[in-house]
Amino acid sequence: MPFGYSGNILHVNLSTKDTWIEHPKEIFYRTYWGGRALALYYMLDQMKPHTDPFSPDNLLIFAPGVLTGTPAPAMPRYTVCAKSPLTGAQGEAEAGGWWGPELKKAGFDAIVIKGSSSAPVYLWIKDGQVEIKEASHLWGKETSMTQRLIREELADDKIRIAQIGPAGENLVRFANIVNELKHFNGRNGLGAVMGSKKLKAIAVRGSKLLNIYNLEKVREIAQQISRRIMDNPLSNDLRNLGTPATVRPLYEAGCLPSYNWTTGYFQEGEALTAETLNKTILKGTKGCYACPIRCKRVVEVDESGLKVDPAYGGPEYETIASLGSLCGVSDLNYVAKANELCNKYTMDTISTGMVIAFAMQCCEEGLLTKEDTGEVELTFGNKKAVLEMIEKIAHREGLGDLLSQGSYLAAQKMGKGSEKFIHQVKGQEIPMHETRIKTGVGLSYALSDYGADHMKAPHDPFFKDKDSVGLKEMKGLGILEPVSPTDIEEKKVVLFKLLDIYWTVFDILGVCDFGYVPRSLGTMEELLEIIRSTTGWKTTWFELMKLGERSINMARVFNYREGFTSKDDTLPEVFFHNFKGGPLDGQGAINKEDFQKAVRLRYQLMGWNPDSGIPTPAKLIELDLEWLIEKDK
Ligand code: SF4
Repeated sequence: MPFGYSGNILHVNLSTKDTWIEHPKEIFYRTYWGGRALALYYMLDQMKPHTDPFSPDNLLIFAPGVLTGTPAPAMPRYTVCAKSPLTGAQGEAEAGGWWGPELKKAGFDAIVIKGSSSAPVYLWIKDGQVEIKEASHLWGKETSMTQRLIREELADDKIRIAQIGPAGENLVRFANIVNELKHFNGRNGLGAVMGSKKLKAIAVRGSKLLNIYNLEKVREIAQQISRRIMDNPLSNDLRNLGTPATVRPLYEAGCLPSYNWTTGYFQEGEALTAETLNKTILKGTKGCYACPIRCKRVVEVDESGLKVDPAYGGPEYETIASLGSLCGVSDLNYVAKANELCNKYTMDTISTGMVIAFAMQCCEEGLLTKEDTGEVELTFGNKKAVLEMIEKIAHREGLGDLLSQGSYLAAQKMGKGSEKFIHQVKGQEIPMHETRIKTGVGLSYALSDYGADHMKAPHDPFFKDKDSVGLKEMKGLGILEPVSPTDIEEKKVVLFKLLDIYWTVFDILGVCDFGYVPRSLGTMEELLEIIRSTTGWKTTWFELMKLGERSINMARVFNYREGFTSKDDTLPEVFFHNFKGGPLDGQGAINKEDFQKAVRLRYQLMGWNPDSGIPTPAKLIELDLEWLIEKDK
């Protein structure tokens, strides 16, 4: 068994209630490592194309990385993969928190789940032992109650639980999975896949020490990075203001997504800033396993008629924009309440805000009536209506049933020209980052395997001038010259090819994007040394970048088999038009032809067919993926 791994992959068949443990060889681990790459191996090897995401044949895979649970800073993450019910593509979401490290300590490198149970169950995994337990008494319960009941039942309040709430059980297509009530595998509707399998939760407890090649060295580097993080302005911002720090610069520049993307100008933006949050509802901060940054907010509201439970954490930037400005809401107390509701029902806050803002615009345009909304006044700015719609979506009542399908399917069903008001890539609602001021993010949205995602690559401003942290710290990747955030020329395409692969490596290893360059000051050299000291492998960034590229090609092959084409690698129409209102009024449109040229160049740089975007046999051979060519014959 290689260092860094337990050598055990748990397989569970929920239809037959069988479990068994696979012990892969070292060559398997060295090829696929963990996280999304390992999960994609099983999805490609064991799932037939066109499997219904809600059928028992869809696989649901939980995969930490080789670094997950090591004492190095910001290594808490694990990936969940399945075919997504929201996009029909490869589905994927990473979460931090505590569950991934605990699974490693319980003696498993990953869990591969297939089949579906006839009645609700949960998995109980403790130090290498696995039980499938009855969960009818938990079905329908919100997440904090479920966590409490499982911990009481198993008489251990240190158990870590990944679970779904009612939205996952009700197959809301953007339901997510949560651990510790506030760390989410947020996107792609993977909670609905868990619901379709009648799997309420996976409870884990482990006491095994991780099998680390040179623990002393990992500890030494961890201390070195932690000291630097404490003094570093990038990490300080994250600790003091969290991701809501993003609100102020965007609203001041006039590019905070507002009123369903009809403008970036939100006059009441000050009310949504991190500084306002800190002054009003912040109760404390929290972090993930072994991370000194502690970027997570904990908020509390205790007013008559509006209470927000701090057990559910607090809103991130994405949530403040999607359930705030995007819906025209400027009351942080209500945004915090909306966040709490999404968390207890397990719904992705980005997609939730997006479908509600879409419905608000449909109401304003006369495409939906009060009869359709069940008498809810669905107008921009109506903060109570946002809360009402969250309830309806989670329980699939009235209009909530239609919106629970995600905006793409909802608009298809609704027709009447409503498609103009959705903003998605491959069926997934776009996150709250404006690609007109960050075209590299636009490329990442368009080319993402699992629909628009803001965590595919570091954002353009980290590379905008010679003093930017990306330029100072990432020369080892060949990043030598600054590129303007709004440029969409060749250099931008080359840069974002590298950056997409670089952050994909983080997803495979279990590393939080906020812990290392360019987002924080753990360096590429330190990260490499942590990997070497954990695994004992004399690896290099060359091997790691190939690993990232391998997983991107695997996802590409998966999607191609599902019928995705180059037409799906594009951006919502809104980004090809100028901003309306505010400081950027009349500016900013991305030139569509330039963007299409950039996508085509990216295909070529990746070694894909320049027209279809399909990986060539030569590229698959280069990446040790020739078995995928065989499978396609
Ligand atoms: S930086 Fe924040 S999200 Fe990342 S591991 Fe640390 S506390 Fe968790």
